[in-house]
Amino acid sequence: MPAIAVSNTSPAINENTFDPNGVDNDGGICATPVLESLKSHRVKSGETLASIAKTYNLTTATLMGLNPKNRDRTVKVGQILKIPPLDGLAYQVKNLETYKAIADKYRVRPDVIFEFNGCQNRPKTVFIPGAVWKPDPIIAKIIPLIPPNFKENLIIQTGGYPLPYPVPVTSNYGWRNNPVTGQWSFHSGIDLGAAMGTPVLAAKTGRVEFAGWEGGYGNFIEIIHTSFGTRYAHLSQIFVTSGQRVVKGQQIGRVGSTGRSTGPHLHFEVIVPSAQGWATLDPASYLIRLAVVIGEIVVG
Ligand SMILES: [Zn+2]
Repeated sequence: MPAIAVSNTSPAINENTFDPNGVDNDGGICATPVLESLKSHRVKSGETLASIAKTYNLTTATLMGLNPKNRDRTVKVGQILKIPPLDGLAYQVKNLETYKAIADKYRVRPDVIFEFNGCQNRPKTVFIPGAVWKPDPIIAKIIPLIPPNFKENLIIQTGGYPLPYPVPVTSNYGWRNNPVTGQWSFHSGIDLGAAMGTPVLAAKTGRVEFAGWEGGYGNFIEIIHTSFGTRYAHLSQIFVTSGQRVVKGQQIGRVGSTGRSTGPHLHFEVIVPSAQGWATLDPASYLIRLAVVIGEIVVG
């Protein structure tokens, strides 16, 4: 986190006892809020998001945060970008959230945030200087695999979980920070810790879109169902071919450790169509629900 210089003319605020309701709101001392003094940049031919960021001595992440249309890192000629005077991000203040709480979250001094936002007492959105913007995982609405009346059709609804029995989750969906490199990366699926050779089952009836080797995924299967798709990676064996119809619960392969994998597990993804192509969503809620169903069947 870069150090933030605090102007000498700012009001002295003790950060330990800081209370946004209790400080002087002296407009004569506080500058215009950063978010009200953004510059505009019209994209010229040949410019990239990175080159524009460099021009203003900002990071690409800062521009992506303030310009949601450019979060795919592309720019269009003639497009207007919002340019802040320094790196940071815009943060929507939650109900009754204090500067102190926001400051703790981003490890920035509360008085610094207060000053950069014009010493407003109850701003809806604040600029957090020095904070690094990063994308949220795409969270789409969960489409239930199991209809609400599944108990009536218990036997034919036993499929859906991609393995014959529930296993522990060894890595969750979402952003993770590599403790060695400090790099953020996005884990687009959920890792299920199953033994080598465990049968892998189709989560739902559909058509095999791809079955074969796919780089870091190793031996990989993608199945498209009516409104979404599922993906199965690092397999040791594949029993289906592209274009083939499969039914829910059918064995399509076996758990392995092929591709970029440190040990046997099933990397399982749920994908939904979006404007940018297929987007992944967190499969956890499906799997928890399905694991419960399988548990009920075992107990019953
Ligand atoms: Zn994985």
